[in-house]
Amino acid sequence: IRSAQHATAAQPYSTGRQPPRVPNLIGGAFVDSKSSSYIDVINPATQEVVSQVPLTTREEFKAAVSAAKDAFPSWRNTPVTTRQRVMLKLQELIRRDIDKLALNITTEQGKTLKDAQGDVFRGLEVVEHACGMATLQMGEYVSNVSSGIDTYSIREPLGVCAGICPFNFPAMIPLWMFPVAVTCGNTFVLKPSEKDPGASIILAELAMEAGLPKGVLNIVHGTTDTVNAICDDENIRAISFVGSNTAGMHIYGRAAAKGKRVQSNMGAKNHAVVLPDASMDATLNALVAAGFGAAGQRCMALSTVVFVGDSKLWEEKLVELAKSLKVNSGLEPDADLGPVISKQAKERICKLIQSGVDDGARLLLDGTDIVVPGYERGNFVGPTILTDVRADMECYKEEIFGPVLLCMHADSFDEAIKIVNRNKYGNGASLFTTSGIVARKFQNEIEAGQVGINVPIPVPLPFFSFTGSKASFAGDLNFYGKAGVHFFTQIKTITQQWKDSPGGTGVSLAMPTSQ
Ligand code: NAD
Repeated sequence: IRSAQHATAAQPYSTGRQPPRVPNLIGGAFVDSKSSSYIDVINPATQEVVSQVPLTTREEFKAAVSAAKDAFPSWRNTPVTTRQRVMLKLQELIRRDIDKLALNITTEQGKTLKDAQGDVFRGLEVVEHACGMATLQMGEYVSNVSSGIDTYSIREPLGVCAGICPFNFPAMIPLWMFPVAVTCGNTFVLKPSEKDPGASIILAELAMEAGLPKGVLNIVHGTTDTVNAICDDENIRAISFVGSNTAGMHIYGRAAAKGKRVQSNMGAKNHAVVLPDASMDATLNALVAAGFGAAGQRCMALSTVVFVGDSKLWEEKLVELAKSLKVNSGLEPDADLGPVISKQAKERICKLIQSGVDDGARLLLDGTDIVVPGYERGNFVGPTILTDVRADMECYKEEIFGPVLLCMHADSFDEAIKIVNRNKYGNGASLFTTSGIVARKFQNEIEAGQVGINVPIPVPLPFFSFTGSKASFAGDLNFYGKAGVHFFTQIKTITQQWKDSPGGTGVSLAMPTSQ
């Protein structure tokens, strides 16, 4: 543990060391790991090493879980109004430091500063929602279920919960997890993405400044070993996961085998269905924004367009619009999209684009050999559009997770629905049309958890839940909204009898029935 002057929320990173080492947060203290293994956190626009993140040791992991376990009894008995007030303060502090958070996100993750602000803001909305926890977790009461007997149910916290995060939303996803969990009365162990852990550290500093007691939120780092330790630990009751299907299904299976509840949000292939009656300019703007924003590294990015009938004639205009986007470091004010997260990600994206060409798709716009002046070492991929894509192509079957838009064609609306429904993923799907009747059919028949009607990225605000389906989600209680509160609480049902019959009614061994 560092000297007292360093073990504070105001100064979590080691001073003096370059690059700084990302600390764990254990029992309210930011502590350097004793691990001998560290991973470089790399600025994807420059390849500079921003910081180093440890593979947290087994002992440190155990210490974090113990701290969370020890903090639970008093935190669960802290009035819900007090817990809400911590969130009320936290949302104020996140607003105060939104620029600092956004700068950290752009430096570690690469997205533009404006988009990084959106990343923070969409998480902030969950904190705001958690401020109403007293109402959200209300139980139920039925009076006089039998003579003189009332039954009521209350929602109680589970205990120690954990969150495992992906790289693409370094602030929003941690904020989907711990604010709901802790305001329900749980304590938490967070494992940020090893690629961009900085925002989680800043958010934890703010949570402590807001008054979150020591041990209620803890942070550990690492990759597979830390994740497996979370899955196996008998003190952890529930796991929130967001990331790829490989990791998500592994965690879902391993943690469920240990009796934990898991909510696992995973990969996607979100389709836009475009009808010829749609408003052309608005639709094309939406497709370009949702296809290439954040360099396509959003789980709700629109990565496939199904043009129905004559709307395929709009492809030319789509290409023109995509060409006008500026690819640059996210720190540059003119950037529309920044780099992808790593060299490996760029290689994978380029390979999938080439596989599409090899399989017979036509490359209408090629962003694979882009060079950004001043940032020649960055992992940039420019907007790329492939058309004549078929469902059997690898570029269609795989989630590309880059600035690549695939175009397919359907002769009819019914055929378009069939294409979308045959895809294994079910995160989101959007329809562009001016026909209410068609929109209603789409809403009813489309097999995706989040549906947009003339809305390209239909991510619900926190009073609803994030409702991916099919291969995009495992579990049955979604993130945030009512389902999120249910995920982080368990129901206890109490049946009480207060009768004014001092002598009782004698002994009866028959099963009690309500009469
Ligand atoms: P990832 O699965 O590689 O990593 C996510 C987390 O899992 C990280 O913390 C990582 O350390 C851990 N991890 C990685 N591989 C693991 C393994 N084999 N075993 C155990 N743990 C492992 O995901 P990523 O690349 O960081 O994020 C991108 C993915 O996340 C995309 O598939 C995207 O669609 C998905 N995503 C989904 C949503 C959603 O809400 N559905 C939101 C954001 C991102």
